[in-house]
Amino acid sequence: MSEARTKSRNAPAEPSPFAVEAAPLPREKFSDPLVTAKGEARASVPLAKLDTLWLNTGTLCNLACATCYIESSPTNDALLYLSADHAERFLDEAEATGTREVGFTGGEPFMNPDMLAMLEDTLVRGFEALVLTNAMKPMRRHEAALLDLREKFGDKLTLRVSLDHHTQAVHEAERGARSWEPAMEGLRWLAGNGFSIAVAGRLLPEEGEVQAREGYASLFAREGIAADAHNPARLVLFPEMDADRDIAEITTACWGILGKTPADVMCNTSRMVVHRKGEPVPRVVACTLIPYDAGFDLGATLAEASRDVPLNHPHCARFCVLGGASCSG
Ligand code: SF4
Ligand code: SF4
Repeated sequence: MSEARTKSRNAPAEPSPFAVEAAPLPREKFSDPLVTAKGEARASVPLAKLDTLWLNTGTLCNLACATCYIESSPTNDALLYLSADHAERFLDEAEATGTREVGFTGGEPFMNPDMLAMLEDTLVRGFEALVLTNAMKPMRRHEAALLDLREKFGDKLTLRVSLDHHTQAVHEAERGARSWEPAMEGLRWLAGNGFSIAVAGRLLPEEGEVQAREGYASLFAREGIAADAHNPARLVLFPEMDADRDIAEITTACWGILGKTPADVMCNTSRMVVHRKGEPVPRVVACTLIPYDAGFDLGATLAEASRDVPLNHPHCARFCVLGGASCSG
């Protein structure tokens, strides 16, 4: 964790319960976009269709979770607040290409002063909107505006709440002390007011998916939250990520070995807009997971960014393609 993050109030002091156990990543891996360290052809993914456009609203967050992949915290503004003016240009382009959904992720999106304007613009244009939030104070400040949007757009607006685990102890070990109850209150508020909701959770190293879904199902039943923990669209469970731990590289042969196709990974159907500090305008990157790596910066427009993505990052392997499986590549 960076110094700024460890200094953040309420940042967890202990190692994350979701830490990846593996040897350090050898330096020669993920260094050449075309070939792996073993000299095999690296897999790449074409953009089939821009189904989801992600807007990164900025890295500032009210929390400083132990393994936040984007290193968000109350002080990290490496990705600036995206402005509604800048977002407009990408929404225009996405509208023209028939994009279905616009996703908002941060940081905590509701800390961005233009968030409600961008969300309304998205919904007015007829896109579905998906907002990833921790459902804490920044979201609660916008209750009236959110109720208004729910009234006007109904289930076109979905809020996906991050609840890292179905137990308070594990959630707070990752997200910091006193992070559980405010998140639960936010989730109850959304559910009680009839919003379309989803929950994003994670699996402990020894925890199976069936066990985790049962755990969330009991929690939702206890709390009166009408979300189906057995529906993968309503409870999304993420595999772990750690760019510094060893993992197999993905070769073109891996698809066949694993029985997967490029259609199984996000960069086949989505892109993300980020506004990096020090840059005059936002840029388009391959996916939500890799905002800083120059190799995944695909251009200034969605059109420019529609080229193939070489899977040249440990997240491509651990999170997207392998997701717990293994491949000899
Ligand atoms: S709430 Fe989300 S964005 Fe904020 S620090 Fe935690 S994981 Fe990162
Ligand atoms: S991590 Fe790699 S494979 Fe996964 S969506 Fe991003 S670019 Fe694609």
